[in-house]
Amino acid sequence: MTHRDQKHRGLSFHGSLLDSSAAQTQTLFASPQYDCDVAIIGGGPAGLSAAIELKKSGIHHVVVLERESDAGGVPRHCDHSLFGFREFRRCFSGPRYAQRLTEQARKCGVDIHINTSVIALHPNAVIQLSTPGGVKKIRARKALISTGARETPRSARLISGRRPAGITTTGALQSTISFTGKKPFQNPVVIGSELVAFSSLLTCKFAGIQPVAMIEENPRITAWSSAVLLPKIFGVPLYTNTRLVEISGKQQVSSIRIRNADSTEKQLDCDGVIFTGHFIPEATLIRSSHLQFDKNSGGPVIDQYGRCSDSDYFATGNLLHPVETAGWCWAEGKQVAKNIKDSLNKVLPNANFRIPVHILDKEIHYITPQVLTLPRNGQQTQKFNPFFNFQLRFSSPVKGNLSVHSSSPHRKGDSRCKTQIASRHLGRHHVNTEYVDTEDAFPLFTKSFTSRPERRALLNIPYSNILDNLNVQGEPGINKILIRFSDCATLRL
Ligand SMILES: Cc1cc2nc3c(=O)[nH]c(=O)nc-3n(C[C@H](O)[C@H](O)[C@H](O)COP(=O)(O)OP(=O)(O)OC[C@H]3O[C@@H](n4cnc5c(N)ncnc54)[C@H](O)[C@@H]3O)c2cc1C
Repeated sequence: MTHRDQKHRGLSFHGSLLDSSAAQTQTLFASPQYDCDVAIIGGGPAGLSAAIELKKSGIHHVVVLERESDAGGVPRHCDHSLFGFREFRRCFSGPRYAQRLTEQARKCGVDIHINTSVIALHPNAVIQLSTPGGVKKIRARKALISTGARETPRSARLISGRRPAGITTTGALQSTISFTGKKPFQNPVVIGSELVAFSSLLTCKFAGIQPVAMIEENPRITAWSSAVLLPKIFGVPLYTNTRLVEISGKQQVSSIRIRNADSTEKQLDCDGVIFTGHFIPEATLIRSSHLQFDKNSGGPVIDQYGRCSDSDYFATGNLLHPVETAGWCWAEGKQVAKNIKDSLNKVLPNANFRIPVHILDKEIHYITPQVLTLPRNGQQTQKFNPFFNFQLRFSSPVKGNLSVHSSSPHRKGDSRCKTQIASRHLGRHHVNTEYVDTEDAFPLFTKSFTSRPERRALLNIPYSNILDNLNVQGEPGINKILIRFSDCATLRL
């Protein structure tokens, strides 16, 4: 049997690889084909934590492919504090945090390749790269995609007016300040009030920039209520119920026109505009690949293990749910690494045994996972873990009941559905959990929800109820899961 045959049969191929990372780098750039155990695309907090976890769990050759000049992801550009509580129990600036994670990964023996852009994903975890040495391919046993998310720029927001200098996103502003030390403006307006909008306030504060206003379309801010203190502390007026209508200025922004809910308009003098939030997953690779794409989330379709439609690929981090904190993405990367290890050891349920999850009401913007994989033997005992549960985003501020139904035609009217009412606290949400017992819709689980757009909402996956619907051969009697949102009332806050 040739060495290539061995690899294709999934047998160990470590023997052919050199161990030191310098030697591995040389191999990557010197040869047209390169093999590793796990290839991680994107060296942000999610990718790095997955890489560290995989190395710690004994996976031999873990490669991180990062297109920028260093690993660390978005925090590398965020030159302000508030990173690292969950990971290091300490508060770091973004660049320091990114450096810490990168150092930790390197110490564990993770092979980090910078200035290396992944340009295509192929079946069998064959990945095409653009490297300083030209276009290459690597073949991994499993690949993890953690390419993050980016903000929607002005061009995609259809704001009328001129195109002067001084219009940016938080990400671009943070990079400019971190890497060039230059200030693109002195008195900008911040558009949006998602968590990252407050990150832009912090960036301005650290750089000696004084924003003239913060503007939010909705009646209240999108981030946690307590965040309103920050503009107050920094002396930045916050206008809610207000929309940006037009940007003026020839060379540099000179003013903007804003309109509030009763249609009165006002001009604000400023020399810049910072667009924040409205995140979109960095999913160009997914769209151009064989992997199934979810138009609701804008990312890949995954099951509850983070596994894509091709089970050689996994996904994690902000690519799945723009946008979470770095700490959340770090924790999720760690979890998905455990799933990848289980998958390499062939102990994850068969990926072909999948039940799609459908959103029925427009109030739900997206949900992950978009498919559930059920075990053939009917044994699925997972303790509560947010990364194994449904994560949702709503499209507007909502209050109502979210329910999980199964569509299982041959079990309709079956009275084995249980009734149980429970109440508990789940993170910031107060949850009333109710297992309902009606014949027609086959409901599995209902939960009352109060949430706002761009905010994480978690819903327990009712495994035991789903497993109750497996038929005697262990085949799913369910052909899809339906997620409903009912009794909806738009929140007036
Ligand atoms: C502007 C902004 C400010 C923020 N401020 C805060 C804050 O103050 N506190 C906080 O906790 N969180 C903050 N966040 C959120 C936090 O930065 C992210 O949650 C976290 O970085 C997400 O980690 P990630 O690994 O999923 O993605 P990212 O950090 O985005 O990392 C993705 C990596 O993938 C690489 N990549 C993408 N495509 C390719 C490709 N084709 N080939 C190779 N590499 C590729 C990118 O270069 C990047 O390094 C902020 C986010 C943004 C956008």
